[in-house]
Amino acid sequence: MKIQENVPLAPLTTFKIGGAAKYFVDVATEDEMREVIGWAHEKGIRCIILAGGSNVLVPDDGYDGLVIHIVSGNFSFAHRELDADGGCNLLSLIQAAGVKGLGGWEKLAGIPGTIGGAARGNAGAFGAEIKDFVHKVKAINMYSGETRIFVNTECGFSYRNSFFKQNPKWLITRVFLELQKKNSSESAKLAEETIAEREKRHLQNIQAAGSFFMNPVAPQNIIDMFEKEKGVKSREGSVPAGWLIEKAGMKGATVGGAISSLQHPNYIVNQGNATAHDVRNLAQSIKLKVFDTFKIELKEEAMIL
Ligand SMILES: Cc1cc2nc3c(=O)[nH]c(=O)nc-3n(C[C@H](O)[C@H](O)[C@H](O)COP(=O)(O)OP(=O)(O)OC[C@H]3O[C@@H](n4cnc5c(N)ncnc54)[C@H](O)[C@@H]3O)c2cc1C
Repeated sequence: MKIQENVPLAPLTTFKIGGAAKYFVDVATEDEMREVIGWAHEKGIRCIILAGGSNVLVPDDGYDGLVIHIVSGNFSFAHRELDADGGCNLLSLIQAAGVKGLGGWEKLAGIPGTIGGAARGNAGAFGAEIKDFVHKVKAINMYSGETRIFVNTECGFSYRNSFFKQNPKWLITRVFLELQKKNSSESAKLAEETIAEREKRHLQNIQAAGSFFMNPVAPQNIIDMFEKEKGVKSREGSVPAGWLIEKAGMKGATVGGAISSLQHPNYIVNQGNATAHDVRNLAQSIKLKVFDTFKIELKEEAMIL
């Protein structure tokens, strides 16, 4: 276990923004996680988990505690099951499963980050969510040290939400997935098509944290307006945050180096020199304008560290 000091966090995030961690450690195994949690307790230092860094905004003055960086990467297959360490990259798992003739989850291809991060936020795209494939989750309680297995129904999954998001003291160490039998070349083709679609929609390889806000539940008159204009049904009473942002006139709005993307207004993008302060100010202006226009309160999906 090698605890480092003053480690810059920006390069470890897709936003490429933010200051340094006072203390920082890479952890790959459950034993290391336990050891590090014990160390932080002993010293009275608060800690936070960082994995793929694709859904976080690091403040400009960094984090005044211990950042536990999950770098575990082992996984194995048995029949239709895939057991993966929380730190495994999601796309690499989808590709590895495809080679083994397992799939069904190719619509999640291209979502950056780890399987642990995906389970914690119930990541999803194009109508699929990770919860549809998770059988069990193994997690360590960072306060008590308890290890627990949560079956799918205990994970509290809902739209971009889970028990683990609500209870950040639980560190996901391993995710157990149940996949479908799938022809290898078909799985590879589906994953490639999904990634191509994401690239076409400008959802890939940008300095952002994905959708900054969650799609909010909206009153019926707003849903009617959305459905009439877009010719598509709203999902579970919600409307896309990006559509509200555009309607409120905030598409393309900027603060410093941060912009509400012209292609996908719910992405706040770092144009190269944005600070976390710029991003937060822009997010606040967007929230105010959407509330003034629609009386709807947007809630952040990205985590402010
Ligand atoms: C270009 C782009 C496109 C995106 N598209 C999508 C999309 O289509 N759909 C979607 O759902 N998301 C999308 N995202 C957001 C992001 O990729 C997902 O939320 C992803 O699942 C986050 O995983 P991560 O490993 O990067 O987590 P991180 O960003 O490292 O962490 C996010 C949060 O999860 C916590 N966390 C991470 N790992 C663990 C763990 N093992 N145990 C407990 N807590 C943990 C962290 O503490 C933090 O609070 C996109 C992001 C970008 C940059």
